[in-house]
Amino acid sequence: MKKRVVVIGAGLCGSVLATLLRDQFHVTVVERGKKKKPLFDDVECDTGELNTSINRAEGLGGTTNYWHNALIELDAKDLTKAGIEPGGFAPYYQKAWELFLAPSELDACNKARDANAEALKGRSAAIGHMVLPQTRHNVWTLANQKHPGDAIEVVYGHVRRIVDGGVELDGGRRLDADHVIVSAGGIGTPIVLAHSLGQDHDFVPGYHDHPQAYIAKVKLKPGSFLKKVSSTATLSADVRAGLVYESDDLKTVVYLRPAIDMRLGSITGPARYILSDLRNDPFSPKKIMLLLGNLEAVREAILFKTRLGFRGDYYSMLILGEQTPLPTRGVQMANGKRPTLNWHVTPQELASYDASVTKFFDEFSDQILEKKVIPTPQWDFRNAAHHSGTATSFLPTPGDTTKEFFRVKGLPNTYVCDGALLRAAGIANSGLTLVALSYRLAEHLRAGA
Ligand SMILES: Cc1cc2nc3c(=O)[nH]c(=O)nc-3n(C[C@H](O)[C@H](O)[C@H](O)COP(=O)(O)OP(=O)(O)OC[C@H]3O[C@@H](n4cnc5c(N)ncnc54)[C@H](O)[C@@H]3O)c2cc1C
Repeated sequence: MKKRVVVIGAGLCGSVLATLLRDQFHVTVVERGKKKKPLFDDVECDTGELNTSINRAEGLGGTTNYWHNALIELDAKDLTKAGIEPGGFAPYYQKAWELFLAPSELDACNKARDANAEALKGRSAAIGHMVLPQTRHNVWTLANQKHPGDAIEVVYGHVRRIVDGGVELDGGRRLDADHVIVSAGGIGTPIVLAHSLGQDHDFVPGYHDHPQAYIAKVKLKPGSFLKKVSSTATLSADVRAGLVYESDDLKTVVYLRPAIDMRLGSITGPARYILSDLRNDPFSPKKIMLLLGNLEAVREAILFKTRLGFRGDYYSMLILGEQTPLPTRGVQMANGKRPTLNWHVTPQELASYDASVTKFFDEFSDQILEKKVIPTPQWDFRNAAHHSGTATSFLPTPGDTTKEFFRVKGLPNTYVCDGALLRAAGIANSGLTLVALSYRLAEHLRAGA
């Protein structure tokens, strides 16, 4: 008889893990949402558009129902900060890439990456190599296609807590399990763990993201090589090179996005992400009104999405800044009420991002004809939806990705695998790394099946 694994959450990691374990275990996935829909009610947070724009989601596939599936690796320094030995992790990154891209597609993206590196040779900026496959994948669907096998039982319900030998859902239903994997996401997982360990009033520290803000417009020289490195199309993907700087041990990445002119209206105010938001939420009257109020932002978004703008001279600068875990940043539990998330950018982080932006301007002054910068105190950060680090206070200090890396202290046979596990992520979108970690944990569990 197969041992029973209960996976909490059918999002990015839960989907990959369930499909990898299905043949060796009896796998039950508990997913809180029956239908794909944005998740606005798991935490209180009145800043950063966390509860007013699509920031996380429920339904099979979780947040990947809405994500952009932009794929990027953590560099060796970030992996080390996260407690992951870079060399040993390379095979898992390879598996993660192969979930999304066929070998020939991956090869084309790697060639574009190498060409970008060549173009930037001799500069101090490192490259954030980001690949956006043209097809946006719901990872529940994708993982089931890639890893077919025995049936996975899906139970719709909200897990309240992990109990000895299983999990308990709201309403009192209990599911028995030999192993429990918590993949409820960077916000859902700490809530389940805190409830399970009787920490219903506690503060759960460790949260980090890479908040994003539009900060300037620039006019590039007509022949500037920055236009090409900002976006290269392969047959099936778009390859982007972010320009990464480090100041005071924190990274900042600069992405250039096509603009119509130097006016700042399209990158300030509530409509600045409007087209991207509307794509996910097309019938929102509030968003349609915002859209109509900022047609400049719409025209620029079209230039970006169609890639036509990458041949033009005007660009908006979007930055993403690294955060590291702080004892004061995280989820405040509130017994019987919704927990509250605080994800603030500290003055030290802002100073670091500012210093890195100065480095960018200094380094590329030979490429930039004109610039218009929003004053630093007015940089309007938005949460970037890479909710990370919130389980680390429940986990042992890592010594690479052994089975212990994933194991929850005080809850037997319980493992975490999702954003909450990541102690660091630099400026990288964390999805690819989370998939790689899912392959790693599945390997450990299969070895002990
Ligand atoms: C608009 C948008 C674009 C994005 N683009 C990118 C991108 O381009 N690249 C990238 O790498 N990342 C991107 N992300 C982030 C990425 O989607 C997340 O980092 C990733 O989905 C996190 O995976 P996860 O497994 O931690 O959680 P999720 O995918 O959020 O899954 C968690 C699941 O757990 C369920 N759940 C939660 N609590 C419970 C409970 N108590 N009981 C039962 N079920 C529960 C939820 O309903 C959900 O299905 C984007 C996010 C958004 C919002």
